[in-house]
Amino acid sequence: MIEKFPGLLGAVLFGIVIGVGSGLAIIIFLTRVSVASYSIVALPVPTETATTTAMLTPTATPTYLPTISPTRTASPRPKPALVPIWTPQPVVEHFLFGRPLALDASASAPNSMYLYGTTELGKYEVHHGVDFDRNPIGVPVYAVGDGVVVSAGDDREPLCGDDGKQACGRSPNYYGLVVVIKLDKAYRGQTLFAQYGHLDRIDVKKGQRVKQNDLIGTVGMTGIAIGPHVHFEIRVGANDYASTRNPMLWITPLPGRGVLAGRYIDGEGNPIHSAIIDIYRAEEPTKFYRETETYGIDEQPNVNADDQLGENFVMSDLPAGEYIVRVPGKQFAARLSVPEGGLGWIVFGK
Ligand SMILES: [Zn+2]
Repeated sequence: MIEKFPGLLGAVLFGIVIGVGSGLAIIIFLTRVSVASYSIVALPVPTETATTTAMLTPTATPTYLPTISPTRTASPRPKPALVPIWTPQPVVEHFLFGRPLALDASASAPNSMYLYGTTELGKYEVHHGVDFDRNPIGVPVYAVGDGVVVSAGDDREPLCGDDGKQACGRSPNYYGLVVVIKLDKAYRGQTLFAQYGHLDRIDVKKGQRVKQNDLIGTVGMTGIAIGPHVHFEIRVGANDYASTRNPMLWITPLPGRGVLAGRYIDGEGNPIHSAIIDIYRAEEPTKFYRETETYGIDEQPNVNADDQLGENFVMSDLPAGEYIVRVPGKQFAARLSVPEGGLGWIVFGK
């Protein structure tokens, strides 16, 4: 499924007008451009460049953010090196829900190697959810929000879809014992669903009302599962496998932690698929910290970026702080803040 960005055409026209009218202006696009060489500086990134990455704020007219820092405006005007086409959308957080596992579970964060949209470097199918693993069979699983159970049972039989007659996953018996909650909280007119797969036991029935943190079942490994875990999804607009979004953009980060999300793009502003993204803590810019991948392409069906963000990678439950994002083999880096309980956002590439 091709991502759609209604602002794309407007942004292109806007860029052309600005380019012709004022000459090609310097554009630093969530990364820093070296005035001397017109290339983005490599690590380590000096601390004063923190101003070059920032949370994008809603804006009435298309604009490229952030602007050049004061120390850079006095420099000679360079030829354009980076010309972003894609117009960043306003960053809107929606951490509306709680967590599927207790905070004191042996592992309350999902497996960071197989996050939403990733393949664990090509080992697995593109992931339509996240896996809360490293917990034994029988650990309690909870409702992430108030709502009504709309699917509950063994997905050898069709349980999902508006009519309860569609497969819940890619194929029958994909998620084993499944629960789907239609959440009371909607978002921008769209119904939201929380889906849990591979349960060992189901403690709710279809049609039952649940409150946030009610027990809905236990960790298992039913369906296609290598070990005990809960596969968790957020579905937007419909209770089906094609309607997933990144669940870590919807559930509240663990205490003291936040979410890093971004869009890694080519020179025309298109998302780059299945690229490795390396994450470093800013205080240790040469010490590898975490790695993830940009969303892969899955034809049956594809995963979806957030309707407002258009992200293609997310690293969740990071300790709040300053981070540097790099792509191996590329000579650029981007720096950003991840706030506690919030979202750090970056668009970068060339
Ligand atoms: Zn999974």
